[in-house]
Amino acid sequence: MNDFSYLKPASRQIDFDKFDDRLLLYVLKYELSFATCISCGGCTATCSAGNLTNFNVRKIGLWLRRGETEKLSEEIGKCMFCGKCTLICPRDINIRNVILLIKKRISMLKTEKEMP
Ligand code: SF4
Ligand code: SF4
Repeated sequence: MNDFSYLKPASRQIDFDKFDDRLLLYVLKYELSFATCISCGGCTATCSAGNLTNFNVRKIGLWLRRGETEKLSEEIGKCMFCGKCTLICPRDINIRNVILLIKKRISMLKTEKEMP
């Protein structure tokens, strides 16, 4: 095979047979407004944590929809709960609450795993 000197990016395709939607369903149960997110990025542009770190709140929504719980678990602690994202959102989504719900559910899932 010819070497064209570029790397093929890893597939981002979602396998819906293996898709873990527990976290997404939990968030939607208590913050249904998240279903109206249009991924405009307004929250990311105003995010206090994003100004100080590489935190990207729009990606948090994306990973939540893709069931990428491990990535969420690594990044979610960077949120400072200032609430600026909630003020700017054109869809009036309470993103601060979304983050809070993700944190709560991840810690519940971790506790469930640790239980015998
Ligand atoms: S500002 Fe609101 S609609 Fe835009 S990406 Fe953030 S949560 Fe979604
Ligand atoms: S509440 Fe969290 S995600 Fe929203 S703007 Fe503040 S630091 Fe960013």
